[in-house]
Amino acid sequence: MCGIVGYIGTKKASPILINGLIRLEYRGYDSAGISTIEKEELSIMKDKGRVKNLYHLKGIDDLTGTIGIAHTRWATHGKPSKENSHPHMDNSKTFSVVHNGIIENYNELRNFLTDNGYIFYSQTDTEVIPNLVHYYYEKDEKTDNLRFLRAVKNACSDLKGSFAIEIICKDYPDNMIVTRKDSPLVIGKGENENYISSDIPAILSFTRNFYLLNDFELVVLSRNNVVFYDKDLNPIEKDTKTIEWNASSAEKDGYEDFMLKEIYEQPTAIRETIGAKFNEETKCEFDELNFTKEYLSSLNKIYIVACGTAMYAGLAGKNAIEKLCKIPTEVDVASEFRYRDPLVDDKTLCIFISQSGETADTIAALKLCKEKGAKTLAISNVIGSSITREADYSIYTHAGPEIAVASTKAYTSQVILITILSIYFAEILDIECEKVSLLKRDILQLPKKIEETLKLSEVIEEFSKKVYQEKDIFFLGRGIDEAVAKEASLKLKEISYIHSESYPAGELKHGPIALIENDITVISIMTDNTLVEKTISNIQEVITRGAKTLVITNQNVDEDMFDRIIKIPETNPFVSPILSIIPLQLFSYYISKEKGLDVDKPRNLAKSVTVE
Ligand code: GLU
Repeated sequence: MCGIVGYIGTKKASPILINGLIRLEYRGYDSAGISTIEKEELSIMKDKGRVKNLYHLKGIDDLTGTIGIAHTRWATHGKPSKENSHPHMDNSKTFSVVHNGIIENYNELRNFLTDNGYIFYSQTDTEVIPNLVHYYYEKDEKTDNLRFLRAVKNACSDLKGSFAIEIICKDYPDNMIVTRKDSPLVIGKGENENYISSDIPAILSFTRNFYLLNDFELVVLSRNNVVFYDKDLNPIEKDTKTIEWNASSAEKDGYEDFMLKEIYEQPTAIRETIGAKFNEETKCEFDELNFTKEYLSSLNKIYIVACGTAMYAGLAGKNAIEKLCKIPTEVDVASEFRYRDPLVDDKTLCIFISQSGETADTIAALKLCKEKGAKTLAISNVIGSSITREADYSIYTHAGPEIAVASTKAYTSQVILITILSIYFAEILDIECEKVSLLKRDILQLPKKIEETLKLSEVIEEFSKKVYQEKDIFFLGRGIDEAVAKEASLKLKEISYIHSESYPAGELKHGPIALIENDITVISIMTDNTLVEKTISNIQEVITRGAKTLVITNQNVDEDMFDRIIKIPETNPFVSPILSIIPLQLFSYYISKEKGLDVDKPRNLAKSVTVE
C-alpha cells in the first residue's frame, strides 16, 4: 500500500507534497516523509505517525526546493518508526528514494551490498534500493546525462517483487526518475511542472492530464518534459489521458468523514453505474463487451475472484449469474485462488473485482487465469488501473473516488454492475426473459429507494448508541442475505474493532449457537420472502437464549417479536443487498463515531492493497 507523491516545477515543493500525502493518507499512516533538493544537497524530513506530524518538524517551513518526493507508509518490513520511514537515502547521500511495494529478494540484495561495504540504518526492504542505485552509479564509467537513468535501470533489473519508486539525485537537481512494477503510479502533466502520485484524485486539483505507466517502464521527469523508456532504455511515446472526475468529489463537502459522505453518495453512484446500459424497452449493452451466444453457451464455469468487500459483492453476482444465466459460478478469495491450482481453462470466464484496480492478489489471480487460457473480465472503479490493463475486457463502476478505507459506495456499485452484467449475459443467451425484464424495471427504481433507505439514519444512530460497548455481535441471514451479513460483519470489524461473526442463519445451531448468551446482540437480515419463515425460526432460537435482536427487513413480520426492526423499501431480491447493507453501513459508522475512533483510517488497515 502506501502513498507516494512527487513534484518537479517552479513552486516550493514541500507544501504540494504534504498536501498530496494528506489526500493519500488512506493508503497508509504508519509514517510520513518528504525529500527535496536544497542548495544542491538532499534534505529528508520524516517522522512516525500521521502526515500532520510533518508540520511540526523543525525546519520544514524553511524548505525552498522545487523538486521533491514524498511517502506515507503502510509498513510491511520493519516496524513503524522514524528510521524505517521513507524517504531512504544511500550511504553517500546522493540518492533519495520512496517505495510502495515489497522487495522480495531484499535479504539477498542487502547481503550483497553489505559485502560491498554498504551499511543499513533501517529494517526496511526499501533501503536496498538507493544503495543499489548508488552501486551501479559508481560502477558506470560514462558521466553523460543518462548515468542516473542507467543506474536506476540496472538496480531495478535486480529487484524481485512489487514496486512503485520515485528517485531524486543530488547530481541531477532538474530530474526525477520513476518506475513501477505491480504497484500503482500515475504522472500528472502541468505547465512547467509535473506531478507523481499513487492515485489520480490526490493531484486532481493540479491537473486533469495524466500519463499511465506500464510495468517496468522508466520515466525521466524534468520541469518541462516527461520522457518514457522501456525496460531496455529505448525511448517510447505516450499520450495523456484526460480525467473527467470532479476534484471536489475527493473532498469531504461538509460531511464529518469521507465514509459518511460516501454512504450518502450511493444514489448517485448507482445511477451513474447504471448509466445508459439499458432501459425498460431496450436490451442491455456494454460498449466494452462483445460476448456472443456461442461463447457464453460454451462456458462450463464462471469464477468471480476478489478480496474483502469486493469478494462479498461477488457473492451477489454469483446469485444473479446462476439464477439468470444458469452458468455455474464460484466465488473465491484471490489470495487463496491463485495458490490452489484452480480448474480453469478456455471454457471458463474469470471475473475480477477491485475498486482501485491495483489489488495485488487479484491482479496475480488474473494473470494466472490468462496463462491457463481463460478469458478475463475486470470490474474496477478506476479507468486505466493495472487490473483493467491486464484483463481481456474491463467494465467500470462509476462511484467516483472512494477515500474512506472501509468501502461503501464501491461495494453497492459493484453489486449493481455485476447484476447488470448477468442481465447482459441472460439476454444474449435468451433465457429467463420475464425475470430479467422485472429486474430491469426494479434496478431503474433503485436510486430513489436508496434515498428512502438513507432516511433511516436517525433510528440506526439511536440503536448504535445502545450497543457500541458490546464485545461481540452476530449477523445472520439466508441466501443472498447471508452475503450481506458477511459484508456487514466485515464493516463492523474494520471500523469499530468489535468482534463480529456472520453466519448462515440455519447453520448457527451446528456450533456457534454455543456462543449466544444473555444480552448478546444478533442482527438478522431478511429480504427473501421465500426464506422469511425459516430465518424467523432461527432468530427465535437465539431469542430463547437471551439475545437482543435487530432485524433489517422489507417483509411484513410481527414487529413485537424483536427488540428493533428496521424496515427498508421492498425491491427485487437480486438487488436487495444494495438496500439492506445501507442501514448496516450506517450502524458501523455510528458505532465507530460513538467510540471516538478514526472512521476513515482504521488501525492496521489501508485501502488499495498493493502487497500480497
Ligand atoms: N515495503 C516498504 C516498507 O515496509 C514499503 C511499504 C509500503 O508500500 O508502504 O517500508
